[in-house]
Amino acid sequence: MNILPRLMYPLQMLPNSIPNSWFANLDKMFTQFIWQGKKARMKISKLQRARDQGGLGVPNVQLYYWAAQMRYIYEWVNPEPTNTWIDMESWNCGLLTLKNCPFITYKKVKLEVQNNFIVRNTLNTWNKMMSCFGFKNHFSLLAPIWKNPDFVPSCHDAVYKFWHEKGLDRLVKLYEGGAVESFEALKSKYSLLQSHFFRYLQIRHYIPKNRHAQNTFLEDLLIQPISKRFISQIYKTFGLNFNHSTDNIRKQWQNDIGEQIEEKVWTSIIKNTHRILSCNTDRETQFKILHRLHCTPLLRSRFGLGSPNCIKCCSEIGTYTHMVWKCCKIQHFWSDVKEEVATLLGYGLELTPSHPQNTTTQAAGTNLTLWTYKQHKNINKLLHRNANFE
Ligand SMILES: [Zn+2]
Repeated sequence: MNILPRLMYPLQMLPNSIPNSWFANLDKMFTQFIWQGKKARMKISKLQRARDQGGLGVPNVQLYYWAAQMRYIYEWVNPEPTNTWIDMESWNCGLLTLKNCPFITYKKVKLEVQNNFIVRNTLNTWNKMMSCFGFKNHFSLLAPIWKNPDFVPSCHDAVYKFWHEKGLDRLVKLYEGGAVESFEALKSKYSLLQSHFFRYLQIRHYIPKNRHAQNTFLEDLLIQPISKRFISQIYKTFGLNFNHSTDNIRKQWQNDIGEQIEEKVWTSIIKNTHRILSCNTDRETQFKILHRLHCTPLLRSRFGLGSPNCIKCCSEIGTYTHMVWKCCKIQHFWSDVKEEVATLLGYGLELTPSHPQNTTTQAAGTNLTLWTYKQHKNINKLLHRNANFE
């Protein structure tokens, strides 16, 4: 796929704030391409999940754009002397330095940088990221103590400048062990004067009560060292922090099988869907089965398209579980799998759709099944032939 690099170049280079509607239109075009103009059977947001989160890894261009913008914000916060463009961008930022901009509330910071087109647009994107991940109105402890427009006294009082020069430059430095330190402790640590006690009370009052010294993952990304493949790493982290609930599918499988699927087991199923088979078509089949995308006879009958009975045995209702497991015709296939495993590896698998309870058996079973599937193409063919009951 060479569309992504072509899109990434302008997305990285142009200092424009791109509206969400543009990305929504792009997703619509992707959807039309994937489903070839037919009705989509699955939302693109699900297809965009990482493969080990139950998705297909379809690129989410908006997240890539955000990751590209994060690179610039990262360099604001961790400036290199060789990056001359930072000097250019830091011009006309009002009271603020670029290093502090991401940690001031958007309402205040946009007033400071209103005449700086590039910085304003980047901060607009940063604000969208914060809102999207649920950090709107987040009180950042990485905000500066001196010249912080959110904390008005710091813009006029020279004592805060003194604190800044002594190394007490960010709110987080007031914390020790998850709570704001006492004035005495800060006084000895940063050589403050006794006359600064009132400023200490002022700033302690400014920090919301019960505010713990914990950063958001977006803030952590800005202060942690990231070296190679910056955009890919950030993109991956974004993907991990989205709330990708697969509980609905899990419940449907639980109902069909008639057993509870533990969280740990379900996570392992989601993670290994793409690892079981090496062929792309077979992986796609696994993906469809996991998400129950095949149109079963029961479902077709609800649309008025034929009988709800299974097309293989013609005697029972064609539910999803019946089609992939319970049907007497499919059971022959699973018996073949069991025999193949026993012949090749001398290991007896239990014929059950549920996950083995014993951890050792589970691990052994999974590994052996994986190995067998990879090694024995006949089983792949069998699986493929029987799974496409559409
Ligand atoms: Zn049947």
